[in-house]
Amino acid sequence: MSNEKNDIEVADEIKHLSPDEIEELYTKYLAGEKNATLINDYKIDIQPNKLITILPPIKINNQLCPYCNIVMFRKRQSKSSSGLSVPPTECHECNHKIYLEDFRYRHKVCNCKHCMMLREQNNLAAEKELRRDILKKYSI
Ligand SMILES: [Zn+2]
Ligand SMILES: [Zn+2]
Repeated sequence: MSNEKNDIEVADEIKHLSPDEIEELYTKYLAGEKNATLINDYKIDIQPNKLITILPPIKINNQLCPYCNIVMFRKRQSKSSSGLSVPPTECHECNHKIYLEDFRYRHKVCNCKHCMMLREQNNLAAEKELRRDILKKYSI
């Protein structure tokens, strides 16, 4: 076991599966295999409709969290959610989320502590700017 694999917490129900088997299972799931069949084939002790929730998130190796500088993850997409909605990429450390550039996500903002702080600072800066403008305008 390399440390690489250890940074994702794998649910007890699928601890007996190798990462490859989990990927295989997920591929079959997306291809339309019934949850009940998969659970039976892979000997997973869980309610069929819970299957997707226990699968570990996908590691996005080429996406680092801008704050923590660690690899980010994406939750697996369930079949019922339309193929269009891709879950955001998330940082396990600070909870920072990156949404795909997509019209449905245009107004989505990340609420992790870093982004909140950044927004706060930007707001303060904008406010100061505004105040300075007003002072300038009326001091003449
Ligand atoms: Zn982070
Ligand atoms: Zn964030």
